[in-house]
Amino acid sequence: MDQQQNVIELKEVTTSFYSRKQELTVVDRVSFNVKQGETLAIVGESGSGKSMTSLSIMQLVPAPNGKITNGEIIFNGEDLLKKPEKAMYTVRGNDISMIFQEPMTSLNPVYTVGEQIREQLMYHQPLSKREAHQKGIEMLERVGFSRAKEIMGEYPHQLSGGMRQRVMIAIALSNNPKLLIADEPTTALDVTVQAQILDLMRNLSNEYDSSIILITHDLGVVAELAQRVVVMYAGQVVEEAAIEDLFDKPLHPYTEGLLNSMPKLDEEQDRLQSIPGAVPTPDNFPVGCRFVTRCPYAMEVCTKEQPTLLEKESGHKVRCFLHEEGVVNDGEHERSS
Ligand code: ADP
Ligand code: MG
Repeated sequence: MDQQQNVIELKEVTTSFYSRKQELTVVDRVSFNVKQGETLAIVGESGSGKSMTSLSIMQLVPAPNGKITNGEIIFNGEDLLKKPEKAMYTVRGNDISMIFQEPMTSLNPVYTVGEQIREQLMYHQPLSKREAHQKGIEMLERVGFSRAKEIMGEYPHQLSGGMRQRVMIAIALSNNPKLLIADEPTTALDVTVQAQILDLMRNLSNEYDSSIILITHDLGVVAELAQRVVVMYAGQVVEEAAIEDLFDKPLHPYTEGLLNSMPKLDEEQDRLQSIPGAVPTPDNFPVGCRFVTRCPYAMEVCTKEQPTLLEKESGHKVRCFLHEEGVVNDGEHERSS
């Protein structure tokens, strides 16, 4: 497949939760695409809408209160949002797979690893139980198990956290999905195991030319794996850039803050600066720029109007008045339109 071809394209996807009193928009007109063989990272602090974005792709937003209210999700030339729920069963686990932070909650404790892998394989492929079993063993070997045969007969609780996550990756990859969504895949694991899982994901993406959406709050993980990054804040995309550009010349003050709070090998831990304050909740988003309450460069215009996501250079987008033409940081704020 052409290197530039989009595997998936999100256009203005909006997801809200409804209660008796109000509509809370947790994913706000989010657009991005993932190309063949590419790993795209979505970063942002907890509560910024990363998981809801990925659940929107899978159409697993918690019903009945959660709803995708706008946008298109183009996959294989079709809008997933127009597909009937039945058709999504085939898409999930076959065309698009997802792995989560805590593999214990996605593995069923009462079934063996083998039963769960076989079920996943046989649901999507015309395999006999025997064939599925054989394929399952191959999948476990592919994710680095040397005792794959034995592992097939074990229960999730007999495995360590890192092993469970590898089983989840094996299940996720068992039907050769075109896209793998990994939501904080290493967050629950200790540092050594984290590195092993990241290695595994990197190898798989190189070897099989898979496309990955990697969701994480950890820029260190991003640097290890991704080619491109989308930064989310309070439900919106605030910056998108190639990995080198994001690290070398971040444009959004939020991205700058995230980078400053990243541990560096050559610096003392106590020089880490975390961004003061917290991500606002959807019932309390500021009227203007959503980052205004924490931004060291906030201007008057930022409290009043929402900045637009603009492409500053090819492939580098930012949502910030500092980078909008006609807005000057000298007390006189004019916005061009
Ligand atoms: P992230 O993955 O970036 O940490 P999430 O996508 O999980 O963030 O959450 C985005 C926002 O959606 C948060 O403000 C969160 O409180 C809200 N949210 C998540 N799940 C629900 C739910 N079931 N009902 C209402 N609000 C929710
Ligand atoms: Mg999350």
